[in-house]
Amino acid sequence: MTRDALVFYSPVDDPRAWKEALTSELPDLDFRVDPDVGDPATIDYALVWVPPTGFFQRFPNLKLVTNLGAGVDRLVRRDDLVPVPISRLSDPGMVALMTSYVVFAVTRYARDIHIFERAQRRGEWHYVHPRPLFEIKVGVLGLGELGAPAAQTLAGMGFDVRGWSRTQKDLPGVACSAGPEALDNLLASCEIVVSLLPLTPESRGMLGARELALMPKGAKFINASRSAVVDEAALVAALRSGAIGEATLDVFDIEPLPADHPYWTLDNVLITPHLASITVPALAARDVAESIKRVRRGEPPLHAVDAHRGY
Ligand code: NDP
Repeated sequence: MTRDALVFYSPVDDPRAWKEALTSELPDLDFRVDPDVGDPATIDYALVWVPPTGFFQRFPNLKLVTNLGAGVDRLVRRDDLVPVPISRLSDPGMVALMTSYVVFAVTRYARDIHIFERAQRRGEWHYVHPRPLFEIKVGVLGLGELGAPAAQTLAGMGFDVRGWSRTQKDLPGVACSAGPEALDNLLASCEIVVSLLPLTPESRGMLGARELALMPKGAKFINASRSAVVDEAALVAALRSGAIGEATLDVFDIEPLPADHPYWTLDNVLITPHLASITVPALAARDVAESIKRVRRGEPPLHAVDAHRGY
């Protein structure tokens, strides 16, 4: 009997770590790393991160494509993708890392640490009286696998948290709203806004000059999802004018961020190089294996992606 075979492709993930993690869950899986795939017709599953154009056309018998990450915006709109179930990764390690990033970025502003960083560079003892966290309104855009735990953790810390998503959610401690008509209110009421929205045709450019102007003067903006959710030029202008007081940005229209990009010169921007969260193979492999088992049984995979919806 032939074994099921999986093709692995990623310019950034370690194939050995994935092979070890996945074959310990599925010892009968034939794990092949592109380009050493053997007969492409024998490949059943693909575990990939941004494969080159035409990649999927090589494998006529695919039954499942698993995206090596949470964001599928570079996967769902390809025209070489055969109509098979798509799943994305989600594991407790990825959730914990994203939550830690959001907690760090929000707390840095809430506790005025960015002000003390500047004061220290000037050699100044600069006292700012701390504010209770319940006075600080934080908006979380996107309440999915990463947004919901981040919002709930912030609420558990005592922040006044408002969450926003496409469909209405009910998260303990978080004031939730949904739909395009609720966005303006959320932006106008929050002094710190965090984007954990996926990039889809609907969310692209969702935060433009008009939306940024709705936020209270000097508001803080944190983007750990995808840059194109925001109009980058409008954000630069708002940061220059002080309409947006501070930003923590992990994602950019062009990555690595070009050396001549205005963000590098803005003292009110904290740049991190797209690492708010990553996948930990040892923790994520169980779900990938479970998805393969489900597809073998003719069931949908875990963390299924709706390609039409875009996330
Ligand atoms: P999910 O797909 O689990 O959740 C997405 C959330 O956004 C859902 O709550 C969804 O609403 C909401 N949403 C989607 N479209 C809209 C819309 N048009 N209007 C309002 N709300 C909308 O995604 P994750 O939480 O797992 O991840 C979010 C994003 O984070 C990923 O897509 C990826 O781009 C990014 N990411 C970034 C990383 C980094 O290191 N910087 C690492 C990992 C992910 P609903 O629930 O109603 O469907």
